[in-house]
Amino acid sequence: MHHFSYRDGLLHAEDVPLTRIAEQVGTPCYVYSTATLTRHVRAFADAFSGLDAMICFAMKANGNRAVLRLLTGLGAGVDVVSGGEMALALAAGARADRIVFSGVGKTAAEMTAALEAGVHQINVESEPELEALDAVARGLGTRAPVAIRVNPDVDAATHHKITTGKAENKFGIEWTSARRVFRRAMTLEGIALKGIALHIGSQILDLAPFEAAFLKVRDLVALLRADGVTVERLDLGGGLGVPYRHGDNAPPPPAAYADVVRRTVGDLGCALTIEPGRAIAGNAGVLLSRVIYRKEGVTKAFAIVDAAMNDLMRPALYDAEHEIWPVREAPRDAERALIDVVGPVCESTDTFARDVSLPPLVTEDLIAFMTAGAYGAVMANQYNGRPLVPEVLVDGDRFHVVRRRPTMEEMGSLEDTPPWLE
Ligand SMILES: *Cc1c(COP(=O)(O)O)cnc(C)c1O
Repeated sequence: MHHFSYRDGLLHAEDVPLTRIAEQVGTPCYVYSTATLTRHVRAFADAFSGLDAMICFAMKANGNRAVLRLLTGLGAGVDVVSGGEMALALAAGARADRIVFSGVGKTAAEMTAALEAGVHQINVESEPELEALDAVARGLGTRAPVAIRVNPDVDAATHHKITTGKAENKFGIEWTSARRVFRRAMTLEGIALKGIALHIGSQILDLAPFEAAFLKVRDLVALLRADGVTVERLDLGGGLGVPYRHGDNAPPPPAAYADVVRRTVGDLGCALTIEPGRAIAGNAGVLLSRVIYRKEGVTKAFAIVDAAMNDLMRPALYDAEHEIWPVREAPRDAERALIDVVGPVCESTDTFARDVSLPPLVTEDLIAFMTAGAYGAVMANQYNGRPLVPEVLVDGDRFHVVRRRPTMEEMGSLEDTPPWLE
């Protein structure tokens, strides 16, 4: 469910017509809905009520400061995957004791920053990282609160570029080594072992892989406890999917996901963490864009729009498809034609949609790429000399530019000419 809908023939974000945002902010720009973000966090909180569970928003899905402020204000913690994200989360007002630090390759500097900030938990993904964290913590005269990420070797049945829980993936500690590594962690003075972490992938549309992974974790808890290992916490990761296209199978709602958690690991006496990213932010955002040209090729028609792969990388990176809605609602009986929707960047992969059926689009028409609130703006870059795409947050009938478009001077401000080329 989201709060983007047609009213009086115009697509609105909550009570604001997208035409107004396009006029005032220019295109392309991302538009986020406060009501949708709020609804999703509350859905997770309600689903997990009665369980000792912390909901940590995975900010790599959407790291905008205003979005983080909104979500943390509603009680969410934050899952970060780098020292940079941790610093940004703290700057957004997140409480350190509600931050989980994940990621496969933390440097000693990042570990130091995390321990000095006092984060809730550091999720360790390999033996060398465990030893390094032990050394850093001892150096600081402290003990690092740690969960060890295991790789349960389950197939999340999602796109191969976003699956993380198979044995061949780089994430976590292999299942077969888990017991040994946990026992080792118990002996390290700089490590306060808290429990187990896992994250099996993203855009998962079926509960079966979660259930399989959580049941494996349940077995592991029993084995570890028999070994005398402390398991007080389980961090179950994120991964719940969102519908990208009309007619996609609806992903399970948070309540159904929570039922699986309850049934599989709910009785182990562990404090739980979950790390949803996409499920909270995905359909809370759209990328607003304007048609520059309509081009009739020999075999195809193209709408060339002012958003490009540098603004929204998912189609180029993961073959993702985003529904495209015209901002001006087409009449029900409007003629439709097959068209490719492409950006102006000099790459063939700068293609948002091939042969989509859309009402005729002409120069100046506004369109919205739907479900662009997760893994959208965070991945944007300046390829082809294109300024970083702005972001707008809507709340009811008001909106605010929460990241502005940089000026050309700002875009080049980090570069410098060596004296011999002056
Ligand atoms: C990416 C990631 C998440 C969030 O995944 P979603 O599919 O967006 O829910 C959670 N935890 C970890 C460790 C991640 O890397």
